[in-house]
Amino acid sequence: MRWQQGRRSRNVVDQRGGGRSGRGRVAGRGGSKVGGLMTVGIVIAGLVFGFNPMKLINMTGGLGGAGGGFGSGGALAPSSGGVQYDASASKDDEAGQFVASVLGYTEDTWTELFRQYGAKYQPPKLVMFEGAVRSACGTQSSAAGPFYCPGDKQVYIDTAFFRELQNMGAPGDFAMAYVIGHEVAHHIQNLEGTSMTVQRRQRQVSKVDANRLSVLTELQADCYAGVWAHHTQKRTQFLEEGDLAEGLNAAAQIGDDVLLKKAGHTPHESMYTHGSSKERQQWFTEGLRNGKIENCNTFRQAGVRL
Ligand SMILES: [Zn+2]
Repeated sequence: MRWQQGRRSRNVVDQRGGGRSGRGRVAGRGGSKVGGLMTVGIVIAGLVFGFNPMKLINMTGGLGGAGGGFGSGGALAPSSGGVQYDASASKDDEAGQFVASVLGYTEDTWTELFRQYGAKYQPPKLVMFEGAVRSACGTQSSAAGPFYCPGDKQVYIDTAFFRELQNMGAPGDFAMAYVIGHEVAHHIQNLEGTSMTVQRRQRQVSKVDANRLSVLTELQADCYAGVWAHHTQKRTQFLEEGDLAEGLNAAAQIGDDVLLKKAGHTPHESMYTHGSSKERQQWFTEGLRNGKIENCNTFRQAGVRL
């Protein structure tokens, strides 16, 4: 990947090292958001990575219950603190530079795609953290992997995860870019209103059906990640030989069947929350191949009306 040539996004927030203070502090988000958060409910749209699939499955199962996650008052403050990441002052910080570059690519490509539909793209912020982080979706540890929180419209990534990805058999910079592209895709789903519709529906159906809705949401995010890569490639030729293989391999390594097997379980479709390796590859490829958002309607394909 020729990520070094990309412009650096200004929407990266650095909360590594417990949130450094200093200039450019990101303003805390106030109470006005809380009402919205309550309605949005809680969902962690993570990419699911191998650390503890069962925990993630249970977490998703929790969507079927009432409320889940928020304190009784629901006034959990979204993450505050951390500083706006100044890429120009952190030349040696490769992880930060990489994240800021890939996020920049998502901003430019989705801005253009939204414009074609007559809409204005509002990019998410991306919080880099270490260990654990407080979000509008609750406090999350790194073990859950990168995630997007619809309640505060932020992507959260512990940059140490990139090493984990390698350990999971998914090396390569484009594997990491796919992860970021997938999380940003959840932001697109949030802007579209899909996230909220799915969450509402999940509260009304059985756990197995809720899992199936989760899978369709995740596969759509994989497809959107492919759409993003397709258009970014067209615009910037940021891919090098072997990159696509890295991305497809990553999609396979984080398939539910692979993760469940690694965790010593016998994979069964009813347990899936993100899709099998094959499905994840298929949908990522679908987006990559033709770059059409309309072709990413995993729900329609499955006969699910939202
Ligand atoms: Zn996801």
